[in-house]
Amino acid sequence: MAMPRALIAAHMKTFRLSALTLLALSASFATADDKDGKPYPIGYSDTPLIFPGSKWKVHDIDRPRPEAVKPGEKPGDAPADAIIIFDGKDVSKFAGKDGAECPWKVENGELVVNGGDIWTKDSFGTCQLHLEWKTDPNTAGNSQKKGNSGIFFMDRYETQILDCDNNPTYADGMAGGVYGQTPPLVNAVRPAGQWQTYDIVFTAAKVEGGKVTEPAYITTILNGIVVQSHTKILGPTHHKKDTNYDGEFPEKAPLRLQDHKNSIPDRMRNIWVRPL
Ligand code: MG
Repeated sequence: MAMPRALIAAHMKTFRLSALTLLALSASFATADDKDGKPYPIGYSDTPLIFPGSKWKVHDIDRPRPEAVKPGEKPGDAPADAIIIFDGKDVSKFAGKDGAECPWKVENGELVVNGGDIWTKDSFGTCQLHLEWKTDPNTAGNSQKKGNSGIFFMDRYETQILDCDNNPTYADGMAGGVYGQTPPLVNAVRPAGQWQTYDIVFTAAKVEGGKVTEPAYITTILNGIVVQSHTKILGPTHHKKDTNYDGEFPEKAPLRLQDHKNSIPDRMRNIWVRPL
């Protein structure tokens, strides 16, 4: 059967577009090596400083290159330089209150939130965190009583964990929120019963002589969606109270994971940290 004229025209248009795209791509990826056989420079020493007083020139050949870090096999897997906090086997990296044994148990490679808050044995300041969590669709309660848990950076700034699917609550208490301060940019949760991923960059407050001179910041990605973008943290997390940076602050502190006593415990898995 003959191809209709309109279809032929559409094919021709697609072909022309593809040819143009290929031409444009080959031009943008062209290197000196492509045409004159000379290798492309791997740096320069005859360029201006990046800014006045900078240690480095633009494209400086002497500037040390960042070291390589081997990424995980699959998205979400820990890279080679991560500190594995929970890999599905045991709770050896955690302690309970005042250094007691970690009360949370491991089932099917998952960390079961139960028996009070837990703390990492290691302390962290500025860091990247990956953590996966799941609330149970059958847990009772509403608002802040439905699947509530949380990640407290430096034992004081909470990123909320909560079942926010069909569960109205105050905006600054939603998952992805800086609890009591800043709601998530959007509600990015999956329904209860599904695994949710947090990838968070936490920047610790600057501390001099125990006093905070610059606040902490947080960038939070929930299920691949940015919900906090370099958000200023106003001070430690409180319930029904405002906050500030008065008092003494450490430069590092343990991460705390919250047990908010849901009727059916939340679960977590694949937790790793990269101090930055
Ligand atoms: Mg919480």
